[in-house]
Amino acid sequence: MTRYRGRFAPSPTGPLHFGSLVAAVASYLDARHQQGEWLLRVEDLDPPREIAGASDSIIRTLEQFGMTWDGPISYQSQRHHLYDEALEQLRLQGNLYDCGCSRREIADSAVMTDAGPVYPGTCRNGLPPGRGPRSVRVRVDSSVIRVRDRLQAPLQQQLAADVGDFIVRRADLLVSYQMAVVVDDAEQQINHVVRGADLLDSTPRQMYLQQLLGLPTPAYLHLPIAVDSRQAKLSKQSLAQPVTGADSNGAIIDALRFLCQPLPDAVHDASRDELWQWAIDHWDVTALPASRTMAAPAEYIESS
Ligand code: GLU
Repeated sequence: MTRYRGRFAPSPTGPLHFGSLVAAVASYLDARHQQGEWLLRVEDLDPPREIAGASDSIIRTLEQFGMTWDGPISYQSQRHHLYDEALEQLRLQGNLYDCGCSRREIADSAVMTDAGPVYPGTCRNGLPPGRGPRSVRVRVDSSVIRVRDRLQAPLQQQLAADVGDFIVRRADLLVSYQMAVVVDDAEQQINHVVRGADLLDSTPRQMYLQQLLGLPTPAYLHLPIAVDSRQAKLSKQSLAQPVTGADSNGAIIDALRFLCQPLPDAVHDASRDELWQWAIDHWDVTALPASRTMAAPAEYIESS
């Protein structure tokens, strides 16, 4: 049997907050419960969105929580050669084309769905006269892609109708998140992905890229994301409170409660290591709430 290999893949857009702690804890427990490996990958692909010092701060916080990962930390910023190779493969296969549309032009003419605007295919058969290339898109087809998530209700998308041809290289030349995550998960032999349900709608796009590149599809588990009272995902923008290692047991217990996991009777007497061991032994996927969002505990939300 293939050994379980999972990962936590934070974007360094701010310090660790409760929402990202939940993803870290759940992916960690799911891996360790199955005697699997758990890798840490810093998704520092997008310098304009990166906050100086955030990746070190996230790593330090995970260490303070006593979480241990396997192998060296990987950084997307050091893996551009892998993304370029995969883009080249798609280009040689005839799956890509240059697109000259701006975001605004697309927003003005596209049909909107849950996954965002559907690209109307303006540049599919060549750039309109007088237009230069901006981004690079992958051609989608009309097949239906089904996600059988380990937690959420089954999802299906027909990319042609629901998303349209999507961007794999952005106008600023950066590879898109969809492309990088597919390349990384395959290259790192990740066979289990546990992450927030905000990425569920991206999963069919990732599965489509896996098919085009001849890569395996991992098992997916999309967790409810922690939201504030306006239903906004906790993030730097929503002024989420950073989690710190100051009371690591308290935060681990809050994350376990959020995930509806059982807790030991004398939970407040347990040492950090005892708490982790208990949580690993008793990790119960069937107890997880199958919703896409859940209210975060008040103390992790903006304090104003
Ligand atoms: N880097 C993404 C985030 O922090 C997660 C990507 C993934 O798990 O696929 O939201």
